[in-house]
Amino acid sequence: MTHTIETKQIPYIPGDGIGAEIWQASQAVIDHAVAKTYNGQKKIEWTEVLAGEKAFNETGDWLPEATLEAIKQANIAIKGPLTTPVGEGVRSINVALRQQLDLYACVRPVRYFKGVPSPLKEPEKTNMVIFRENTEDVYAGIEFPIHSDETKKLIDFLTSELAVTKIRFPETSAIGIKPISQEGSQRLVTAAIEYALLHQEPSVTLVHKGNIMKFTEGGFKNWGYDIAESQFKAQTFTMRTYQTIQKEAGVEAANDALKAAQEQGKVIIKDVIADNFLQQILLYPEKYAVIATTNLNGDYVSDALAAQVGGIGISPGGNINYDTGAAIFEATHGTAPDIVGLGKANPCSLLLSAVMMLEYLGWQEAADAITQAIEQALITQKVTSDFADQLENATCLTTQEFGEFLITLI
Ligand code: NAD
Repeated sequence: MTHTIETKQIPYIPGDGIGAEIWQASQAVIDHAVAKTYNGQKKIEWTEVLAGEKAFNETGDWLPEATLEAIKQANIAIKGPLTTPVGEGVRSINVALRQQLDLYACVRPVRYFKGVPSPLKEPEKTNMVIFRENTEDVYAGIEFPIHSDETKKLIDFLTSELAVTKIRFPETSAIGIKPISQEGSQRLVTAAIEYALLHQEPSVTLVHKGNIMKFTEGGFKNWGYDIAESQFKAQTFTMRTYQTIQKEAGVEAANDALKAAQEQGKVIIKDVIADNFLQQILLYPEKYAVIATTNLNGDYVSDALAAQVGGIGISPGGNINYDTGAAIFEATHGTAPDIVGLGKANPCSLLLSAVMMLEYLGWQEAADAITQAIEQALITQKVTSDFADQLENATCLTTQEFGEFLITLI
């Protein structure tokens, strides 16, 4: 009897700077994990596609059409960091990829690995998954510079047509506009709630700045609650409902309703104002599980949380459209020009992004094998220099040696 091997075609972009080093180390680990876990019955067929500096040098284009086509065809890809082109006309390639494929959720799991240097006393209490909106807000921001015709026209329009009186220095203002929509917010919050339900997480927290920006940020919060109360009524309990009960029947009745919902395993939907949230994640990280937030808040929150558990060398990310299934998984750090070619780069961010990708493909066992190998390597304190420099008795391995060590642990 012949067995057919299940193969997945996956385009990859090694990336610029340290990209080639971390990709080489990571690919060997991923291939080994898949082969070993499934006894050779599953396999990834990798195809390199060009983007960034390498693409520019070879084709004159930072993001060639062929790359977009290949990723669209496969509906999935993995990438290392890319140099952001400096100059007029070209925006960040990462942003372009996300926009072209409408990858509306930037998903960042943040957890602590034992042995990793952290600034916190109890870093293991930080365990969250961030859903950052990836297509609106400042990513779709419209800006006009100081003294431009556009700014002048806009300020004239705002003051004469819309009775705006609060622009403090109209002659020397630049103007920025950010759109946040009901549709964009609700598809993101839906993805976060569905993730919480699938993974039996206790809560989804909507992080916003609605106390100041009532219609955009406040809209995000309200539309998030609306979708929970309409589409996930049986599986969730919102703190907005809690407040209504509190007003109508008192605090005891509200607490009883909350307790009952928790006992029934319902996901609690709550909200926190962004500045307070940055305090909360330092003081009480254990209170938060899944986070849904707008683009700019998500930018700050993602980096702050990554720093709490060991920094960008170990933070993975995925950009996903849950409606079309399109997804790009990526290392969250940059090209690290200061350590290129020195064997100092930590491949964990890319490897853990591969773990997310394998989970997304349903290849959970291979994903777990890589996670367990990373856990073990970090506990034994055989690590790359970014961690070794901060630890007392660690053994410092090069990027390649670290990859090879992981393979021995799978
Ligand atoms: P960076 O993330 O490249 O580096 C910041 C610091 O972190 C450096 O000291 C670097 O050595 C260290 N570092 C980063 N990744 C590491 C790893 N895997 N292991 C060990 N140390 C690591 O940020 P930057 O210097 O601000 O940016 C450099 C370039 O990367 C710029 O062109 C920027 O636009 C680009 N960038 C790309 C992405 C992306 O493609 N997703 C993200 C951020 C920055």
